[in-house]
Amino acid sequence: VTKIGVLTSGGDSPGMNAAIRAVVRTGIYHELEVYGVMRGYSGMIDDDIFRMESRSVANIIQRGGTILKCARSDEFREPAGRAKAYENLKKRGIDALVVIGGDGSFKGAQKFSNEFDIPCIGLPGTIDKDIAGTDFTIGFDTAVNTAVEAIDKIRDTADAHDRLFVVEVMGRDAGYIALHSGIATGAENILIPETKTNIDELIASLGEKEKRRKLVNLVVVAEGDEFGGGNEIARIVKKRLPNIDTRVCILGHIQRGGAPTCLDRLIASRMGYHAVESLMQGRYNVMVGIVNNKLHYTPLDHAIKAKQKLSNQWLKIVKILAS
Ligand code: ATP
Repeated sequence: VTKIGVLTSGGDSPGMNAAIRAVVRTGIYHELEVYGVMRGYSGMIDDDIFRMESRSVANIIQRGGTILKCARSDEFREPAGRAKAYENLKKRGIDALVVIGGDGSFKGAQKFSNEFDIPCIGLPGTIDKDIAGTDFTIGFDTAVNTAVEAIDKIRDTADAHDRLFVVEVMGRDAGYIALHSGIATGAENILIPETKTNIDELIASLGEKEKRRKLVNLVVVAEGDEFGGGNEIARIVKKRLPNIDTRVCILGHIQRGGAPTCLDRLIASRMGYHAVESLMQGRYNVMVGIVNNKLHYTPLDHAIKAKQKLSNQWLKIVKILAS
């Protein structure tokens, strides 16, 4: 390996910049030429590729988003698109690639690598934390902390008016953001896609609390909940418990932005460093993860969305602590 490319693909997540910085500087430490590819695979196809120096990544470790920008590319799904991308790497002599993104990006990287013999390394960059083979993904901790901060604020106004707030958080078909932010903010109920949502039970528990005149009620709903998220849950609650003043708040994209937390900067730095080390050691086509605080390498074609088996223990704790 002498020249490497780095790109961010799929949805952005806070901490991607810290990962880019680590890849660039570790590459330069190993005397590699490092190239930034703009807009994920789109930039590879459109030849939007530039040489990066150590100073290209100065002053970015604390910034959200990604200086390389993110994109999805349908063209890269086609063999012709990937061939075009390869020509652009070949003409610069780029012989390895670090892809920061989600499982879709890794699938693309694996295909590309099989076709053109370009070794690839994946780094898990997603706020959803839904990737197998790692305890952490770059961006999750920031997103969940943003959600906690926002829900704390909602709780203040809910308390002042004796209102019930249904708060929808992101996570797509994963419930990690909802579970973690719900526990950390003392939500009475947390609805996640990994478990069956029992509406009757929810209504009974809210109704019972209302009778006891328990004041603050927070229900945190994952956007991927089977009932279709916050608006739908609020609609049902309003209909069945008309005496409760119920409001809904969809947190939305604020969860994707903002300065990465210390933890996200740490894991991004560690993963970025090991991405290049792994290439140097000849370990190719793997995703770098961290499991039980140890580096863990998952073959790119096994780096799939994790369907978490959420332990019932957590949901039991939620019930007891919110009673
Ligand atoms: P996020 O979790 O944020 O959605 P992701 O990496 O899973 O990130 P995708 O949109 O699934 O996001 O994939 C990103 C890009 O990777 C796609 O736009 C496409 O260019 C490429 N890609 C995904 N799946 C494949 C595939 N099976 N073959 C080739 N390329 C793919």
